[in-house]
Amino acid sequence: MPELPEVETVRRELLLSIQGKKIEHVTLLREKNVKANPRDFKAALERAIIQDVQRKGKCLRFDLDNGYSFYSHLRMEGKYFLRQQGAPFDKFDLLIIDFTDGSSLRYNDVRKFGTFHLGLTKDAEVDGPFSEIGPEPFDLSGKELKEAFSKRNIPVKVALLDQPVISGIGNIYDSEILFATKIDPMTKANALTLAQCDAIIQESKRILAKAIEAGGTTIKSFHHGDNIDGMFQLELQVYGKQGQPCPECGHPIKRVFLGGRSSYYCPFCQRQPQTKFVLGITGPIHAGKTTAANYFKAKGYLHFDADAVTHSLYEIKSVQKKISSILGKEAFVEGKMNAGYIRSALTRSKAKKKALENYLYPLVKAKAERFIAKAPNGSKILMDVPLLFPSHIDTLCTYTMLIDAPLEQRVERLEHEGRPTASLIQLNKEYPLEQAKKKADYIVMNDDDVGTFLNRLHSCNLD
Ligand SMILES: [Zn+2]
Repeated sequence: MPELPEVETVRRELLLSIQGKKIEHVTLLREKNVKANPRDFKAALERAIIQDVQRKGKCLRFDLDNGYSFYSHLRMEGKYFLRQQGAPFDKFDLLIIDFTDGSSLRYNDVRKFGTFHLGLTKDAEVDGPFSEIGPEPFDLSGKELKEAFSKRNIPVKVALLDQPVISGIGNIYDSEILFATKIDPMTKANALTLAQCDAIIQESKRILAKAIEAGGTTIKSFHHGDNIDGMFQLELQVYGKQGQPCPECGHPIKRVFLGGRSSYYCPFCQRQPQTKFVLGITGPIHAGKTTAANYFKAKGYLHFDADAVTHSLYEIKSVQKKISSILGKEAFVEGKMNAGYIRSALTRSKAKKKALENYLYPLVKAKAERFIAKAPNGSKILMDVPLLFPSHIDTLCTYTMLIDAPLEQRVERLEHEGRPTASLIQLNKEYPLEQAKKKADYIVMNDDDVGTFLNRLHSCNLD
C-alpha cells in the first residue's frame, strides 16, 4: 500500500514526466472509479495542459490550465505507468491519458480501489478530496495532535491511520513511528501524554522525510515507461520483522492485529507504565517448568497456575455434571474426582478427550483473562500452563517460553524422586512438543545442571 513518501515520490516523478504536456484523449476503462460525471471528467481533461501535480496525504491533484483539477487517490495498489500510445493495455488499467506528444499515462490498479475526482482548482482547499484530508505531521504540533486524540478511546495504532485527523501515515510507518517513540501500539490515543504526542509528531516528520529522501533517489534512475509506484527499500526497524530480535534490546519483535491491521512492535522497548507484561510458560512434564516458575516468581512475577485452576474447577458441582455427561458418571465418586477412571476414559476415547478439552480450555482461559484483568497495571504475570498453545492462552501472553529437556533426563529426575516412570512416557506422547517448539518465543533447554538452567533463564533478559 503506498504511503505518503511513496505518493510523494510518484508526484515528483509525474511532475518530471508530464508537466507541461497537453492531454489529447482520455479513456475511462472503469467508469465507476470516477467520482464525477464521466463525460464532464473527460471534457475537463481533454485539450488541457497539466500545469502542476500536488499531493496531500496520499492523494494526488493534477492542476490543469483551464481552472480544473483532477484528483487521483491511489488507495491500496494504485500505480502509474508512462507508455507510448498504442502500447497494449493491461487488464488492470483503469484510466488512460494520451498526450499530444505521443506518450500515454496509464493508471493501473490490481485491487480497483483507486478513485478519481474532479473539481475547480480554486476550491481545492474547501471542496473535494483535499478538503477531507487532515493535516500531515509536517503541519501539525504535538499539542494539536493531543487535542485531536482527546476523544479517541482507540489504540494509538488505529488512531494514527485516521486520515481526516492526521494524514499520510499508513500501516508501515505507523509501526515504525511507534517503535521510534517507544509507545505501545495498544495504548489508547486519549491516554497519550503531551510529551508522547510531541514525540509522535517529531518522529513522524523524521521518518517520513527520510523515506521521501530515500524515494527521491529513484527519480534519477527513472525512465519513461518505468513503473511509477515510488516503492523503495527503506531500512525498517520493526515492520515485517516478527520473531526477529529488536534492534534496540534483542527481544523478539511481535505482531498484533488492531483494527484489522497488523502492527509490529517490541513489547519490551514499547512497554508503558500501565502495560501488563505476561509471560506464558509451558513444557513437557518434568522438563523443569516448576524450577522456571519459581525463578520468575522470585523476580516478582504474579503466578497463574493452570493446573491448580483446573483442579479447583473439578470441585464445582456444575462442572462435575458436565464432565460426567462427557466421560460417564463414574468420573466422580461422592463428589470426588475419580482420577484413575478419568485417565483411562481419556486414553480409550479420542472423541471424549476432545470433548473434554473443548469444554475445559475456554473455562481455564476465562480464568486466565480474569487473572490478568485483576493484576495491577505495570505488573509482570507468569501464565504457567502445561497446554499453553492448545488452550490458546498463549494469545493472552506478551511472550511465550518453552522449557524442554531430553526424555531420558526427565525420566532420570523422576526415578531419582522414586516415582513410577511409565506414566511420564505416556504423558510425553500426549504433549504437543512440535507445536510448542514452532510457536514459543523462547526455548530454554534444561539439559545440564540447575545453575546452567537458571543462567539460561536469566540470559533471556525477562527478569
Ligand atoms: Zn526492544
